[in-house]
This record gives sequence, C-alpha cells and structure tokens, in this order.
Amino acid sequence: MTHIITSLCLRDRGCIEVCPVECIIPGLPLEKHPWMYIDPDTCIDCGACIPECPFAAIFPEDEVPAVYTAKGGEYISKVGLTGRFEGINHNGTHLVLDTVKQLTAGEVVNLRDDIQPNYDFFKSGPGYGAKDQDKGI
Ligand code: SF4
Ligand code: SF4
Repeated sequence: MTHIITSLCLRDRGCIEVCPVECIIPGLPLEKHPWMYIDPDTCIDCGACIPECPFAAIFPEDEVPAVYTAKGGEYISKVGLTGRFEGINHNGTHLVLDTVKQLTAGEVVNLRDDIQPNYDFFKSGPGYGAKDQDKGI
C-alpha cells in the first residue's frame, strides 16, 4: 500500500520534513500538479506525515474517502479550478495557488479521484525530477 495526498493539500510542506524515506515530492509545474505527491514504491506507510498536515489531506490509500463531506471553509486544489488561495507555509514562505475552490459546509467531494494523479505523477509525470525546479512553494 501507500499513503496518498489528496486535493485538500495546500502545499504547507510540513509532511515533507518528517518523511523518513523522503518520498514526498512537491508537484510542479503548479498548474499541472498542484499538490504534493507520495512515491508509492518508496512509502513505508509509517503514518508520520498524517499529523503534520494542517489540512488533514493525507490518508492511507485504502482510507481515502469516496464521500468527503466538507466542514465548510476548506479548500480543494485541482487542475481546472480557478479560485485563489494565499497563505504562509510551514517554512514561512508566502504562497499563492490559482487552482483552488473553497468548499461550503455539507458539500461532498470524492477524494478517491485524487489517487490516480499520485501514481501518474511518478509513472508519466515529473516524479523526483520536480525537485530540481523546487523553489520552496
Ligand atoms: S502537510 Fe498537508 S498541506 Fe502540507 S504539503 Fe503535506 S499534504 Fe500538503
Ligand atoms: S507514510 Fe511515512 S513513508 Fe509514507 S509518505 Fe508518510 S511519512 Fe513518508
């Protein structure tokens, strides 16, 4: 199995720092790969990343919810969305994301749609190569 980062990720980066096998990679370019991605072949399912995420975006693969009911106010970040999120990440860096949508209370999202993009990032996308372009966002 692996752990999966879902579209609730707003690139805070706290998870990257704690992963003992350094398998969490920042997606780039932002408009194509808006969140962070876990290499499924390297993840040891230790779970250390889960409590580090301020947006509760990380799940063991078999626990990614098909029916995620929004509390209201949280964002999802996906290719094709056009809203804006501005914030300060775990390292104090200002970041702007232009591929988000803020959810309203009770809105339902299928986060299992976010599983395949994690696999694709390493199979046919930039994978570990994205680290070369990383500017800390
Ligand atoms: S800690 Fe959460 S929001 Fe931050 S990069 Fe990791 S998954 Fe994304
Ligand atoms: S579960 Fe452990 S090994 Fe897998 S991404 Fe999270 S911190 Fe890294």
